[in-house]
Amino acid sequence: MAEEEKCEECGKILKDKSHEPYCQQCDEKLDRQFDTIEDNISIFKELLDSEIEILKRFEEEDIEDLFKRVYKKLVKEEGGLKQESILVLNKLKKTFNLDESGLGLDNLPKAKDVERARPKEQCPQCSKKIKEDFNLCPYCGHKLNDDFVE
Ligand SMILES: [Zn+2]
Ligand SMILES: [Zn+2]
Repeated sequence: MAEEEKCEECGKILKDKSHEPYCQQCDEKLDRQFDTIEDNISIFKELLDSEIEILKRFEEEDIEDLFKRVYKKLVKEEGGLKQESILVLNKLKKTFNLDESGLGLDNLPKAKDVERARPKEQCPQCSKKIKEDFNLCPYCGHKLNDDFVE
């Protein structure tokens, strides 16, 4: 008798094998998580370790396509690739041993070659250390919060 195959995620016996190695429910759940992770990368430039664990369940091809999509999206942002975009792309690249030239993409610039984003706790005018939630710089009076009305 053939061994019964079980969903790798929930352990239910697979009656319908079209979503192997997962059951339909788990497969759909993973797909939704994948979409959320893609948004998290391309919108928030974040890739959490827990998200990497989820991505590891997907095929290499899926990860390569994901990398290509987010890379192309982030490159098109105003001002080109930003420091945080490069950092999150590099994290994805290193974790999954991706090769951007092998994927038909330009090599990622080194993060240090891109102008460092100014730390939020520094006044852009006088460079003094300030609290992030200040509306005005206490040293030079520079307006720090665009929504602030005097
Ligand atoms: Zn399942
Ligand atoms: Zn200042």
